[in-house]
Amino acid sequence: MKMHDVFLPDEQQRSAGMMAWLRSLPGPVWMTMKGKDDSRHRIVVTLLHGNEPSGLRAIWELFSCPPACAVTTHFCIANVDAALEQPEFSFRHLDDKPDLNRCFGRPGNCLSYHLARDIEERIQALTPEAVVDLHNTSGSSPSFAVSLSDDSEHKAIASLFTERFLHTSVHLGALMELSSPELPIVTIECGGVNDNTSDITALDGLQRFLTKVNIRRARPKVNLDVLHNPVRVKLVPGSTICYHSRQVGGVDLIMAKDVDKHNFGLLKAGTQIGWLGEAKLNCLSVTNGGQQCSVSDYFKCQKGKLVLKKDSQLFMITTNPKIAIEDCLFYLVPDKSE
Ligand SMILES: [Zn+2]
Repeated sequence: MKMHDVFLPDEQQRSAGMMAWLRSLPGPVWMTMKGKDDSRHRIVVTLLHGNEPSGLRAIWELFSCPPACAVTTHFCIANVDAALEQPEFSFRHLDDKPDLNRCFGRPGNCLSYHLARDIEERIQALTPEAVVDLHNTSGSSPSFAVSLSDDSEHKAIASLFTERFLHTSVHLGALMELSSPELPIVTIECGGVNDNTSDITALDGLQRFLTKVNIRRARPKVNLDVLHNPVRVKLVPGSTICYHSRQVGGVDLIMAKDVDKHNFGLLKAGTQIGWLGEAKLNCLSVTNGGQQCSVSDYFKCQKGKLVLKKDSQLFMITTNPKIAIEDCLFYLVPDKSE
């Protein structure tokens, strides 16, 4: 599968609405908006995950009232097929295809890997001065940026969208892992799909991203909250999970239904975040980059309750059992002031 180059929607398409336009697309598309300086490029990628529409909605808003782009800007709308699978915007990826944002820089032969490679080649060929990849979190969450580098370029790009910056070394095959000092790529998590500020975060951030003249020399926000080196907390394969407001028998991990309310809150040591079954902590795995960590460094099992061992911040907490099983439960950073 390859990207299709299409024109920006015309007036007739715009008046028919975003969904009609999305349904009319031939598949993943690439569009270009000329800027004042046509020799420089920026790229906006979104909808790598079909159930994360804030970036698309923001781009659609921009099309009806295009800002004066400082440089030529390209828009990549990636996983149109998954987004259109009924009910719309419900599927991260189609069941018979891998997660597109786990296919970058990875060998693989199915269509998702070909599409990832095509996106990568287009980005490399344009040598853009900045790339943002807009997502939504699966649970409710404030916005934040994710980056493999914490240099001032990456932080300045993040600051156009959000006040929170996650500096990670976790490699999964995500687009932002192709980032380099010459070609900064930052993931923006605009907030939860159902949080009403997420679309505004995407739109306001894009307005700044498109119009800023010297993006490479922009300064990061002084109050940018930078979190380093989160660990990724997963279920051990074969373990079971459910979301419930009380202990449930026969399940390895029970998380509270509203556990996502803890996103980015500072939680004290001893805070309960769920219940464990007979396997106790053995149903969990913790990794840092590619390395396995000791689960008991971060969690304790107290009378069947899953509690935090240290003061910690949690984020990207999902409340979707499918995502919890195939991706991860959440990320965690122990509080640095401890
Ligand atoms: Zn995503």
